[in-house]
Amino acid sequence: MTKLALPLLAALMLVRPAQAADVPDPSAVTLVFGGDIMLAETVGERIAQGIDPFADVAPFLQTADATIANLECVVATTGTPMEGKPFTFRADPRVLPVLAKHFPIVSLANNHTGDFGHEAFIEQLDRLKQQGIAYFGGGRNCAEARTPHIIELKGLRIALLGYCDYHPREFEAGSNWPGTAWAVGPQIEADIKAARTLYHADLVIPFMHWGLQYVPENKSQRKLAHLMIRAGADAVIGSHPHVTQAVEYYRGKLIIYSLGNFVFNGFDEGPSRAGWLARLRLNKQGLMSWDTAPYHITDDGIPHLAKDVESPAGDAKKRIR
Ligand SMILES: [Zn+2]
Repeated sequence: MTKLALPLLAALMLVRPAQAADVPDPSAVTLVFGGDIMLAETVGERIAQGIDPFADVAPFLQTADATIANLECVVATTGTPMEGKPFTFRADPRVLPVLAKHFPIVSLANNHTGDFGHEAFIEQLDRLKQQGIAYFGGGRNCAEARTPHIIELKGLRIALLGYCDYHPREFEAGSNWPGTAWAVGPQIEADIKAARTLYHADLVIPFMHWGLQYVPENKSQRKLAHLMIRAGADAVIGSHPHVTQAVEYYRGKLIIYSLGNFVFNGFDEGPSRAGWLARLRLNKQGLMSWDTAPYHITDDGIPHLAKDVESPAGDAKKRIR
């Protein structure tokens, strides 16, 4: 058992048998979700040197019809760091072309997009738009932050919603100021329902930024995940704790509590240096099958596919306990 696999032992996994994993379905849409991407500091320097931090995982990303991840920093030149906040991340806009190449859809619902204030946040929204990167979970006001991003592929409409449940709550968008969507149960329920009624989504997937750092998923995450599924979510994906967390089925729907760090420097060797890319195959009825690609993150914050990192999948053979 490797050191990296230890947090997985704590993961209670309720895995249903493999379903249609190998049966080709031309109507199926494949999405790959990545965890937290932080493009300032060392990773930003690598990009400035012409290094693509996604190069090693790119073959897995290319198997998807669409790729989605959490952008855990602000990308801007303006603003000032929030006073008293221990970690503030602002990436240089030169990182955007490489991000756009691999992740043209990002969630902004996290505890770092607001690090440099409203001006920088608005600048980021403009720059993402110019670069052709779609975003959700953040916006010019709370209405935009709670608006789903719709992926329309092969006749399937998939709504992505993003919410942050980790302080500071000052980053939350308001009626007339920018920021993130906050994880308020009744609002999420309303948004999931609206995704179907107003946006005619066939499927709805919330991407959550939640949990406590370096520990397994907690009661409040489970409560919220179950609430979202009862409200009609087809799967729930999460990140933020800097480690992977459990995978669970609730009412037959997949919950991946945390994918872990993805592109992120500043962590010691151990569980924070491993994570999963999650690949979901979906059709109008929902999730058909899923699997993960595990990776190890080197000192410079860059992920490298790593078979020796334990990783779950929608296959009973992969059950951990
Ligand atoms: Zn976070």
